[in-house]
Amino acid sequence: MEENTNRNNAEGGKNIPLNNTKGTAEGDKTAVNGSSPALDFVRAIITEDLKTNKFAGKVHTRFPPEPNGYLHIGHAKSICLNFGVAQEFNGLCNLRFDDTNPSKEDVEYVDSIIEDVKWLGFDWGDRMFYASDYFDQLYSHAVELIKKGKAFVCDLNAQQLREYRGTLTEPGKNSPYRDRSVEENLELFERMRKGEFPDGSRTLRAKIDMASPNLNMRDPVIYRILRATHHRTGDKWCIYPMYDFAHGLSDSAERITHSICTLEFEAHRPLYDWFLDELGVYHPQQVEFARLNLNYTVMSKRKLLQLVEEGYVSGWDDPRMPTISGLRRRGYTPESIRNFSEKVGVAKRENTIDVALLEHSIREDLNKRAQRVMAVLNPLKLVIDNYPEAQTEELEAINNPEDASMGTRKIPFSRVLFIEQDDFREVPPKKFHRLFPGNEVRLRYAYIIKCTDVVKDELSGKVKEVHCIYYPETKSGSDQSGRKVKGTIHWVSAQHALACEVRLYDRLFNVEDPTVEKEGADWKSNLNPDSLQVLNSCLVEPGLKDAPKGSKYQFERQGYFCVDPDSNVEKLVFNRTVALKDSWAKIEKS
Ligand code: ATP
Ligand code: MG
Repeated sequence: MEENTNRNNAEGGKNIPLNNTKGTAEGDKTAVNGSSPALDFVRAIITEDLKTNKFAGKVHTRFPPEPNGYLHIGHAKSICLNFGVAQEFNGLCNLRFDDTNPSKEDVEYVDSIIEDVKWLGFDWGDRMFYASDYFDQLYSHAVELIKKGKAFVCDLNAQQLREYRGTLTEPGKNSPYRDRSVEENLELFERMRKGEFPDGSRTLRAKIDMASPNLNMRDPVIYRILRATHHRTGDKWCIYPMYDFAHGLSDSAERITHSICTLEFEAHRPLYDWFLDELGVYHPQQVEFARLNLNYTVMSKRKLLQLVEEGYVSGWDDPRMPTISGLRRRGYTPESIRNFSEKVGVAKRENTIDVALLEHSIREDLNKRAQRVMAVLNPLKLVIDNYPEAQTEELEAINNPEDASMGTRKIPFSRVLFIEQDDFREVPPKKFHRLFPGNEVRLRYAYIIKCTDVVKDELSGKVKEVHCIYYPETKSGSDQSGRKVKGTIHWVSAQHALACEVRLYDRLFNVEDPTVEKEGADWKSNLNPDSLQVLNSCLVEPGLKDAPKGSKYQFERQGYFCVDPDSNVEKLVFNRTVALKDSWAKIEKS
């Protein structure tokens, strides 16, 4: 688990400890009334509530991000769950920004969140809200609590609040200001709002129980003084509601039926319930599920922000980031992310999912949809000595063997080609079925060739040119020669190919759980220094000349690639989304 998620608490509530079990890719499922397929426990609760008519037969969820960073794959899971459940049960899902902490929030984040949720394929209709829409209402609720004798203005500072709070094993102490009269509290709270007191000098606190075993119930702060310009309400307020106060009451204001949230809020539920009950307002049902953790990455927005601000990555949308915008730039599709979310399921216990499952999801999707093309990442010149010098021919290539409707295309072939350096060895290791002097291979969609000679660089001694002969009668599609070879390699025609840059990505971190710090080093020492490799002299077949940004291809034998936004008319830039090898497929089969 990442660090404490109590974002704007003047006094953070203690998280309940959670078991970190190794993830199965299966959520907790319950068979409802023996019906199949089994529902996950969230859907089982909703089904039951519909049966008992708990919310007059309605299902209304929301996705409630705080606009203090870009969304990541964990949020994607929550988005898919909230919007997915609403769709399945003919309900509605709101998008609500929980914007109670102006010092960390920004419109850039709001905009990116809107873009990402849309891109994932979900629609909130006209129901985009902000907790700040309810600031007046929340203020009235606070006044009401004061009038009921259930809230008081406290003059303890942050340090003192901590000291009075007690610990998990010791009860807290009542604040010396706890017994102020209703009139005095009303007057002081009003003056807090008017800006008569400095930041942090006073708070409004709920009056609950300083001896409660649940630390969240020990007279929690519900309003604090903070002079910060809010991205929506400007300088109207110098007091802001705490997240715990605003969140449940915002859900109530929106008549949310099921407030789905992550497990760390389980211990906050009694507090949300307390506010709702004391104020006598509409009462949503909170349902907690385990947050998604992925290995080899971090998912806390605070840590992701640090990677961006300290330049470890190129931005929130760096293709190595677990952010939705990073995954999009990397070449992930909304479908693959939605499928992934479904596969990991909804669990009640913390677990860590293998990033290989995410990679499996995108391979599965692109295998069906991406056009195959040939690209050479590390070119080696190949000359076919018996092929006429001025000749070019167009060969037919299949766009996607998984989908005949994607058709075929023509690719140019000529005397001078480039092949992959790895596909040639002057001295072949055992079982090397690619090209070496004396050996024959097939050039994909073209001819069988035989390597006859090499030309070496005089200084370095490295092979700089491979020479071959081809057998004209072995043309793919019309080969009647009966000649057999063990290897097929890809190629591009030297005079026709397009130069491009290819960016290869590896895991951002070297260790499964980067939050575990090595002695004397912080979590960033777990970064993988080789997570980005830029290849500058790659070549791709000419048909990709006008490939739009974001378009996706399978480079045969190499993986899935997409056109990066950095591409321009001079130069195409590709990101490798994922290599072809699918370790997860093996795991699933075994
Ligand atoms: P932090 O990184 O500081 O913990 P956060 O990721 O919880 O912040 P929020 O803006 O509160 O940020 O998240 C919005 C919603 O997404 C919340 O309902 C939260 O429960 C859910 N969510 C956040 N992280 C995950 C995750 N890893 N898996 C599933 N849901 C998540
Ligand atoms: Mg959170």
